[in-house]
Amino acid sequence: MSDPDPAAEAMAAVTPGFATQAIRTGHRRTAEGEHCEPIFATSSFVFANAAEAAARFSGELVGNIYSRFTNPTVRAFEERLAALEGGAVAVATASGMAAILVTCLGLLRSGDHIVASRSIFGSTTMLFDKYLTRFGIETSMVDLTALSAWAAAIRPNTRLLFVETPSNPLTEMVAIAPLADLAHAHGCLLVVDNCFCTPALQRPLALGADLVIHSATKYLDGQGRAVGGAVVGDAQQVGEEIFGVVRTAGPCLSPFNAWLFLKGLETLELRMLAHSAAALTLAHWLQQHPAVARVYYPGLASHPQHALVGPDAVGFSAGSVVGSAAGATGERAVAGLPPQQQRAGGGILAFEVHGGRAAAWQVIDATRLLSITANLGDTKSTITHPASTTHGRLCSDARAAAGIGEGLLRIAVGLETVADLQADLARGLDAL
Ligand SMILES: *Cc1c(COP(=O)(O)O)cnc(C)c1O
Repeated sequence: MSDPDPAAEAMAAVTPGFATQAIRTGHRRTAEGEHCEPIFATSSFVFANAAEAAARFSGELVGNIYSRFTNPTVRAFEERLAALEGGAVAVATASGMAAILVTCLGLLRSGDHIVASRSIFGSTTMLFDKYLTRFGIETSMVDLTALSAWAAAIRPNTRLLFVETPSNPLTEMVAIAPLADLAHAHGCLLVVDNCFCTPALQRPLALGADLVIHSATKYLDGQGRAVGGAVVGDAQQVGEEIFGVVRTAGPCLSPFNAWLFLKGLETLELRMLAHSAAALTLAHWLQQHPAVARVYYPGLASHPQHALVGPDAVGFSAGSVVGSAAGATGERAVAGLPPQQQRAGGGILAFEVHGGRAAAWQVIDATRLLSITANLGDTKSTITHPASTTHGRLCSDARAAAGIGEGLLRIAVGLETVADLQADLARGLDAL
C-alpha cells in the first residue's frame, strides 16, 4: 500500500536516538506520500470480500476492523510511545484514569491486593478505595520513600505495587530499581505512573518496572489540548490482557487526540529539558527569597532524594544532541550512590511561604501571568494551593500527615520566559 520510505528504512538499520524515535517511529506513509501523519477519522474499515472479513475477525489475518481497537493513527501513537518507554507494546486509552482502570481490570481479580504510595493522584486513590473495593480488591497505602513500608505492606495476595515518583505536590521520590526487585521477590508487578517525568526524563521499564502508566493529557501532549492516556509494557500483560479490556469495554483513544499526542511527542525531549531548566532556575531563586520557608524540587541539592537525579540517568540511549549534552551515559551505578534514575528535575515544584493560607493566597492572587488552575504539563505555567484544592477533601490531620501545609504552593513551570515568571511571583512574595 505504501511507497518505500527511506526514513523508515534508516530507522530499521540503526538504533535511533530518543528524539529520532519521538519524531519518526510509528508512521507508515500511505500511497498519498504525506509527510505528516494522517488522521484516520473513520469508525470502521472495509474488507475486499467475505472471506477477508472472516479472516480479519478470526485473527487469521492482521488488519484494521473497527476503531475501538484498530485505528492506524492511534496505533502510530502507541508504537511511538512504546519505543520511547522501551516497552514492547503500548495501549492507548481515553484518559489517564482509563489507563489505570484497564490495567486493574486486565491484571487483577477479586481477592487481589494492591500496595500503593499514599501520595498518588486523587482520582487514583478514589478508584482504589471506593470502586475496586466493591469488587473485592483491597489497597494498602504506604509512605512513598520508605522501602521497608512497602515490604511490610505486601501480603500473600498482593499482585501490584503502584507508585508515582516524583509525588505530587511535594516531589518525594523512591528508587525504582530496588522497588522493582522487592515486587519481583514477592511475585508482584511494579506499575509506575510516569506522568510527571515522561520517558524523556525517566524510563521505569529500564529500571525493572513492569508497566508504565501515562496521562497523555499532561506532558505527552504538553499543550493542554486533549485528554488521553496509555499503558506500556510487555506483549502478554499489555498486548493481551489489558488490550483485551480496552477492545471489549471500550475506553479507547480518539484518533484526533492520538494525532495531537503524536505531535506532542515530537518535541517531548526539548520541552522536558526546558521545563526542568526553568523549574531549577525558579527553585534556586525561591530558595533565597525571605518570604519562602522551604522549596521542594528534585533538582535542588537540598532535596532528600536528590541523588536519584543526575546526568548519569539510567536507561537513556545516547544519540540525540540534547541527550549527549545532558551526559546520558547509561551507567547504572556510581560507586556508593544509588543509580540515578531521573535525568533532570522535571517541571513541578512546590514551596512553603511563611504566613500560612493567607500568605499563600496572597501570592496566588498577585499573579497575572501564571494560570490559577490545577492542571499541569502545559506550556503555560500554573499555580495552585493544594490544601484548599487538590488536597482539600482530606481532613486537616490527614493533610498535615501528608506534609501539605497551609502555606504550600505548587507550580507547574511552563515554557514562558523565566524572568517573567519570576517577576509575576515576586509581586506577591515581595509584599508579604
Ligand atoms: C492527571 C493525572 C492522572 C489522570 O489522568 P487523566 O488524563 O486526567 O485521566 C493520573 N496520574 C497523574 C500523576 C496525573 O497527574
